[in-house]
Amino acid sequence: MTSYVFPPSNLPTLPIVGATDVFPVARVFCVGRNYAAHAAEMGNEVDREAPFYFTKSAFAVARSGSDWRYPQKTNDLHHEVELVLALGEEGALFGYAAGLDMTRRDLQAASKEKRRPWDTGKDFEGSAVIGAITPVAEAPTPEEMSIRLTVNGAERQSAPVSDMVWSVPELLADLAGLYHLRAGDLIMTGTPAGVGAVVPGDVLRGEIDGLAPVDLHILPQQ
Ligand code: MN
Repeated sequence: MTSYVFPPSNLPTLPIVGATDVFPVARVFCVGRNYAAHAAEMGNEVDREAPFYFTKSAFAVARSGSDWRYPQKTNDLHHEVELVLALGEEGALFGYAAGLDMTRRDLQAASKEKRRPWDTGKDFEGSAVIGAITPVAEAPTPEEMSIRLTVNGAERQSAPVSDMVWSVPELLADLAGLYHLRAGDLIMTGTPAGVGAVVPGDVLRGEIDGLAPVDLHILPQQ
């Protein structure tokens, strides 16, 4: 029997709508610039050759509604509401969730300027806030979904999911050519236009038709 020098970390889990079993998270893939209007607001054009990705550690995952503090080393924390794909056995699509790709935009901008990786801007503790997963059989199709985000009740982001440059089947096929997708993998599929800063005290709600919402109340930095 393996004996550890300290207890191994437990990976995060996510609740599943209508079930008591939970979803154990493996990897978190994120799609960049998957809505043309968001690419434009960031001063970029969509690359129609192929999608591109960045990743977050599983330890960046936080459940909807969990205690969440404004992160360190940023003065420009942004919200990005996204449709999240949850993969089951054999990497097949298991379900959908609403998620928030929280971003230290100032650190990401500095990384872009120096042509460095985005990790410190994107992959920090709590940066992937994910709502309960709705199994595919009980969810609408992505073509039927629209996605929106409110901050303190005021709408900031709203778009049909069909505005995505790369559709769900296209993303799954492309990623499966790059990785051996496995049960527990999450794919954050990109955000529509309207991203912006949030501050301690703000209450965020991301909604996608037919799915459980994702809620985030930003507490002061500790
Ligand atoms: Mn994003």
